[in-house]
Amino acid sequence: MPRIVKLETFSNEFVCFVRVSSDDGYSGWGQTAPYNADITAQVFHRQIVPWALGQECQDIPRLVDLIHRREQKFPGSYRARAIGGLDTALWDMKGKRVDKPVVELIGGTPGRLRAYASSMKRDISPEDEAERLTRLCDQQGFDAVKFRIGAECGNDIDEWPGRTEDIIRTVSKALRGQADLLVDANSAFSVARAIEVGGMLKDHGIIHYEEPVPYWDLDATCKVTKALDVDVTGGEQDWDMATWKRMIEMHAVDVVQPDIMYMGGICRTLEVADMAAQSGLPCTLHAANLSLVTLCSMHVMKAIPNAGKYLEFSIEGDDYYPWQRNLFRTNPFAIENGQVEITDAPGWGIDVHPDWLSQATYCAADIKDWQPSAYGALYDMEKPR
Ligand SMILES: [Mg+2]
Repeated sequence: MPRIVKLETFSNEFVCFVRVSSDDGYSGWGQTAPYNADITAQVFHRQIVPWALGQECQDIPRLVDLIHRREQKFPGSYRARAIGGLDTALWDMKGKRVDKPVVELIGGTPGRLRAYASSMKRDISPEDEAERLTRLCDQQGFDAVKFRIGAECGNDIDEWPGRTEDIIRTVSKALRGQADLLVDANSAFSVARAIEVGGMLKDHGIIHYEEPVPYWDLDATCKVTKALDVDVTGGEQDWDMATWKRMIEMHAVDVVQPDIMYMGGICRTLEVADMAAQSGLPCTLHAANLSLVTLCSMHVMKAIPNAGKYLEFSIEGDDYYPWQRNLFRTNPFAIENGQVEITDAPGWGIDVHPDWLSQATYCAADIKDWQPSAYGALYDMEKPR
């Protein structure tokens, strides 16, 4: 049984890559969720490494579950983010070990996948947004686009007065009939206002209404879902399996949108997708930037039976996401006819760019010079509890 002998992080404020190595000479790349990634790297070394180093590396769900249990006093996003770095690195290594892409390990096949052009901007005018989305459909073949309405957690106060109504009319006028139209409210509205906006969305041919009300209020979300024909979607921030169970059981949303990196990796994301499948709900993963989260989402969306209609694909460049430049040696995100391609390269099929790595903060834990901490992790883990 191969074991984990080295865990390395390469991080800055925005991104943290994880490299895992085994005692039989394999390695894999993973990533934690972006933003405050330097803090996540600290959590990784303090709270994940002690439980992972020396462990068997092929049964990934077992190890992930074990670490969640051992760190049970620290529920929350940072634990999930840090475990996500380990989980995604182990899946890459597992693929490389058998020379297969991750998509094949989880029941899918490589190939092309439809994507939707996803805008992240609210400071953009309705006219400029309609112009750039139309241009991207023309130039890159997208046939689905998402734009932003309301203001993030905005309590019914719009980004500027009238913007929501204006952008719904303007983008619908430009693209209705040519592309699927999706909107994201990022928890902008009260229930009453969300239902009012939802009526307008229906009249303008919009079919996907993301996070209409504060996402943590499942009862409020459920009220909006029940009141509207348009698909209400959500779940991108959620990581807690109990919340997912409740969200799906009460049909709070019509489409679930877990984010692999916020979830803590592939294993937990597949569990949510499966839970949704059993309740007849599609799963359209959240992937808001062109770091490893979109690549991992490509593999998962191509494999799960209840995948939604398209992959989320950010259209933002250097002005919005300067930190996502040159992360990889080759670009895995080329768009052709509105589709990405999942190749048959083993694992995730990428190498992190050496120039990026050389500028990142490095931290390593090697089993050769590992000192068990007060946890006594390396030894206790072997005993059944
Ligand atoms: Mg969203």
